[in-house]
Amino acid sequence: MLEIRDLHASYGQGDVLHGISLDVPGGELTALIGANGAGKSTLMKTISGLMKPTRGAVRYEGRDIGGLGAERIVRLGLALVPEGRKVFAPLTVAENLEMGAFQFLMRRDTQRCRSRLDFVLALFPKLEERLAQPAGTLSGGEQQMLAIGRALMSDPKLLLLDEPSMGLAPLIVRQIFQTLSELAAQGMTVFVCEQNSEVTLRHARTGHVLESGRLVLSGRASELVADSRVKEAYLGV
Ligand code: ATP
Repeated sequence: MLEIRDLHASYGQGDVLHGISLDVPGGELTALIGANGAGKSTLMKTISGLMKPTRGAVRYEGRDIGGLGAERIVRLGLALVPEGRKVFAPLTVAENLEMGAFQFLMRRDTQRCRSRLDFVLALFPKLEERLAQPAGTLSGGEQQMLAIGRALMSDPKLLLLDEPSMGLAPLIVRQIFQTLSELAAQGMTVFVCEQNSEVTLRHARTGHVLESGRLVLSGRASELVADSRVKEAYLGV
């Protein structure tokens, strides 16, 4: 579904990603593990059109999307849940969700918008109770649900998540990964970047380890979680 080949990205002074190549197969949860500053957010921003690659290809369903604008990429069916959630705090939960469906609202497709809202509220019933509440008053876990819900409003085929576990209690993190697994089981493609490697690898089929902008290990997630190098570096064992 997503093929990344020899991808380089930079903020101006030298590359931060040094030739990443990996595949994200359709209908599965794929994990990218890395410490602070490894380049996870840079990779997510480059895939979702917020940054242009300096070299290499990002192919989505066979088409090179590297360098396309973020809005085009959303329309093609990719949605990013950004690091730190980035919900619009003064806006209500309902308004935040609507922003995720702007492409349907722009063409006045209120039916599609309504059906996406029904889907999101069935997935996160807590959000339904809070639709009229400003997003800034939600708990961290609820804000993460809202950020995921907002991304799902665009009806993506590929959901990208940048550190969804950040700052959340372990129980909430497990619930979020359970939901992501359910989405993958329904056929959605899910690509998660995380520092929290154990819970991520336990829910993923394939995993990759990123260090200083380079992939250093790739394999079945169940094998990576047992790999002594991963245990030492990322699981604190
Ligand atoms: P974190 O978990 O801390 O967000 P990360 O793995 O997502 O880490 P990135 O945010 O992609 O890492 O950062 C990779 C490298 O790029 C780091 O060395 C970082 O300092 C640098 N970097 C990130 N954003 C910028 C920016 N806007 N301008 C310049 N350098 C940046």
